[in-house]
Amino acid sequence: MALIKTKGFVLRAVPVGESDRIISLLTEAHGLISVSVRGARRARSPHVLTTQVFSLGDFELFANKNRYRLQSSELIEPFSALQQDLERLVCASHLAEVMLDILRDDLPQPGLYRLWAYSMQAISHAPDPLLAVHAAQLRLLMEVGFAPRLDSCLGCGKPVDTGNWRYSISAGSIFCDKPACGMRSTDLLPLPSGGLACLGHIRQAPLGRLFDFSLSSEIRRFIIAFSASYLTYHLDKVYTRLDMLRHLKPADPS
Ligand SMILES: [Zn+2]
Repeated sequence: MALIKTKGFVLRAVPVGESDRIISLLTEAHGLISVSVRGARRARSPHVLTTQVFSLGDFELFANKNRYRLQSSELIEPFSALQQDLERLVCASHLAEVMLDILRDDLPQPGLYRLWAYSMQAISHAPDPLLAVHAAQLRLLMEVGFAPRLDSCLGCGKPVDTGNWRYSISAGSIFCDKPACGMRSTDLLPLPSGGLACLGHIRQAPLGRLFDFSLSSEIRRFIIAFSASYLTYHLDKVYTRLDMLRHLKPADPS
């Protein structure tokens, strides 16, 4: 048995028995690990806040093969903005669900750890958390191998220009406006040029600048719709948490 020290984000906290908790902890060096926490839900436990979902903390863990038990913990950032704003909380919960579906246990994925860290800041503080969560999930999908081809037509190889372009999520590419191009794709849709520029930014921007963009309401609507279809297509699963936001406020203020 070894004692390890690590910083980590709590992505999920599941109550166990009368007062225990099992947390899914995203760490930089060890990837996603499952940690059992005795008495975490007791009011006087020192781990009540540190093992709450979305907390960032410093953790000391006993590791035995791939099983971890919490020894001590210290809170770094509770992300309390999420607990005070239902829209932000729903966005963070959705991204955690996607992240948990994508991450593989015990495999270090430092790029995804950093993406989660920046995404949590953006979802907590950005003026438009719904747009932030869609930018985050698109970047996440691109990081794990689902990057769309954005620089040229898949049909004829024509480099991207200011003309009319279309995209197909199932083909994972853009297509020029020649009738023959994209003929075999059944889900071809128009791609506004602002949408293409935004997708390029989401794919390439350094993480510190990923969320630094603003969009017209038309392009915002496009990015959100593209991101939702992209997620469902690639992960082959229907995610419903964000649907709650439709009842909270309209998806588009315009
Ligand atoms: Zn073409």
